Amino acid sequence: MNERDTLLTRAARHAQDYLAAVADRPVRATLTGDELRRLLGGPLPDQGDPPLAVIDRLAGAAGSGTVASQGPRYFGFVVGGSYPAATAADWLVSAWDQNCGIFALSPLVSVVEDIAIGWVRGLAGLPASWNGGFVTGCQMANFAALAAARHHVSRSAGWDIEANGLVGAPPIEVVVSDEAHYTIFMALRMLGLGAARARRVPTDGQGRMRTDELAAMLRDGSGPCIVCAQAGNVNTGAFDPIADIADAARSRGAWLHVDGAFGLWAAASPSLSGHIRGIDRADSIATDGHKWLNVPYDCGIVLTAHPSSERAAFTLDAAYIVRDVAERDPHEFVPEESRRGRAVPVYAVLRALGRQGLRDLVDRCCALARRMAAALQPDPAVRILNDVVLNQVLVRFEPPGGGDADAFTRQVIAGVQEDGTCWAGGTTWHGMAAMRISISNWSTTEADIDRSAEAIRRVATGAGVSR
Ligand SMILES: *Cc1c(COP(=O)(O)O)cnc(C)c1O
Repeated sequence: MNERDTLLTRAARHAQDYLAAVADRPVRATLTGDELRRLLGGPLPDQGDPPLAVIDRLAGAAGSGTVASQGPRYFGFVVGGSYPAATAADWLVSAWDQNCGIFALSPLVSVVEDIAIGWVRGLAGLPASWNGGFVTGCQMANFAALAAARHHVSRSAGWDIEANGLVGAPPIEVVVSDEAHYTIFMALRMLGLGAARARRVPTDGQGRMRTDELAAMLRDGSGPCIVCAQAGNVNTGAFDPIADIADAARSRGAWLHVDGAFGLWAAASPSLSGHIRGIDRADSIATDGHKWLNVPYDCGIVLTAHPSSERAAFTLDAAYIVRDVAERDPHEFVPEESRRGRAVPVYAVLRALGRQGLRDLVDRCCALARRMAAALQPDPAVRILNDVVLNQVLVRFEPPGGGDADAFTRQVIAGVQEDGTCWAGGTTWHGMAAMRISISNWSTTEADIDRSAEAIRRVATGAGVSR
């Protein structure tokens, strides 16, 4: 075998070994930062190491230095694993090493991206006039969508924001949910719209935007306006009432953006798609591939009903750019220029699952979330804080006999992470410390849920005793 093939074969072997072990190892990383630096660091060698040794060194640290988020019992943040078809397709992306900024640089990836956008659009029930692009994650998808929004509402007020910037521009009113994801505020910052200037609409007990409050806020306004709604609250999984928000936004002449990082995929399930009713009346949507769709990091998707505004925000001509007017240049929809073929694993997973497979994935994760809540609920120390409407479960632990439930909850979370059977993170929900459990991985089974619930209850009981 030549050296290239030897390397690729060895890497494939390492990857297979890693994945074969990922369900049975502690879910947390067991190496510290210093231990990893000792294994991997040191001065840059003057004479390079043999490539095979480099790959072996990296792989040797992976089993204990990574977090087993590819495994079935990682419930932290909203992460998701990667379907084998998506991982395999991603290997091809690296082997092809295509720059998919423009069609001329990679006809294949441009076309695959076009197809994948079309499939996602179809799943979400959006008309063919929508278009979009692939970015690193929902942070950049929110940014890209809001850049198009900023262009669109400014132009309606007679201002060319790309040419003239924000100095002297008609002010843009930005209205967001009080529980908007922090990446919305980061996007507003990067766009010069100011995170703190956004008006925040109060939410209800599940974290949904209150449309009566929104309507009151929008009633007397005029001028450029952007409204940001959310499909899938990161804590509760709850959906803002998008159809009602669309009504309010329309009557104000506002651009409606929906952050559907994981919640958009509810579209795949007939029993859940009612949650996103009205999303076709939005002007833009941001979502993630690397969360619930289970493609490898990194992958976010921006979709817009106004492709010309997306293009206006991001297209600049250069003399050497070869433009094929009959074809779609992927960079026109996103801020990045040179980039990898993120659409390829999305294409692979959608093609391999089909509508039915995606629907099963989404329904299964939601059923497992309900199973988790049901398995924890009987414990007198446990309080489920949310209506489990999607794949998120929010749990608070109350010390038997009373006491500081915030401290107790944090103690249980730390104990569960240390135990290693599963991994769940902490959050603060409406002033209360809580454990956040997100079921987003294709490989999680009922047995994984039962085993994890048992570990959580065992840790909670132990924490109670050791207090
Ligand atoms: C995860 C998430 C984001 C940010 O997505 P990244 O992929 O981390 O950039 C934005 N909004 C919501 C609702 C999310 O859950």
